[in-house]
Amino acid sequence: MSAQIISGKEIASQIREELKTEVEQLEKKGIQPGLAVILVGDDPASHSYVKGKEKASIELNFYSVIHRLDTDTSEEEVLSLIRELNQDSKIHGILVQLPLPKHISEKKVIQSIDPAKDVDGFHPENVGNMYIGLPAYLPCTPHGVIQMLIRSGVQIEGKHAVVIGRSNIVGKPMAQLLLNQNATVTICHSRTPNLAEITKQADILIPAVGRAGTVTADMVKPGAVVIDVGVNRVDGKLVGDCAFAEVKEVAGMITPVPGGVGPMTITMLMYNTVESVKRHNSNR
Ligand code: NAP
Repeated sequence: MSAQIISGKEIASQIREELKTEVEQLEKKGIQPGLAVILVGDDPASHSYVKGKEKASIELNFYSVIHRLDTDTSEEEVLSLIRELNQDSKIHGILVQLPLPKHISEKKVIQSIDPAKDVDGFHPENVGNMYIGLPAYLPCTPHGVIQMLIRSGVQIEGKHAVVIGRSNIVGKPMAQLLLNQNATVTICHSRTPNLAEITKQADILIPAVGRAGTVTADMVKPGAVVIDVGVNRVDGKLVGDCAFAEVKEVAGMITPVPGGVGPMTITMLMYNTVESVKRHNSNR
């Protein structure tokens, strides 16, 4: 039997409806969530991601500010803009679209964002808090995956979750969030020998690699839940890391690409921004 499709698009729109209600409540108190996005350079994929974020902000009636800067903008100019936004009371969330041009240090830029406005959850203070279980902005993609699992009724506790990939923005926080939900977690990466032997043990399998065809049907335990984070372009078409057509015949549940994790990422950014407003006002 073919796997049940977990639609990120549907779950994302459900969460956006919930956020709309929260934004309306805030509006009644005269508060509008403000999100500032900084984009440096002309990478087409980054421009398209930022457009998506702008569209979502406008849809939710956020105060949305996009700073599109030239590739040759200096590091100091970016840092100075962040300092301004840190002080701007209309702005509750600041996001710097990665990657940055080579002459700008990502580390310095991320560390210069006020952790209270770091809605991407990349600042070391938020990363550390997430690891030790203190309140933190959770990184959007892995947080979106957890929401997809929970809202699809998938039990995480006690299950063996296998994450393929160990990047700071997806793989590592993904594994930690699954651990926080009481899964038994294995992380695989490019030096993992016999990948299939490990993936076949997964009740929940999460490829986050960036290589089409990484996961084939013979690598999946029958009935497993597969959340495909990968985004790859093959012959002009967007595909995930899984060989979708064959893996869906073995898995119990699976996410498509596009329409899976992608819509969740932007939605969780909006969620974190509303969260920031709420925290800011409860601290007053
Ligand atoms: P990344 O920084 O390039 O990390 C890729 C990870 O995959 C690395 O840890 C790497 O291992 C591992 N890997 C590479 N080849 C492998 C192999 N043959 N077997 C096992 N592991 C392998 O990428 P990322 O930023 O984490 O993103 C991963 C994918 O998710 C990309 O396709 C990206 O576009 C996508 N993504 C999607 C969303 C979304 O919203 N849908 C958001 C973010 C990212 P090493 O550490 O050993 O090199």
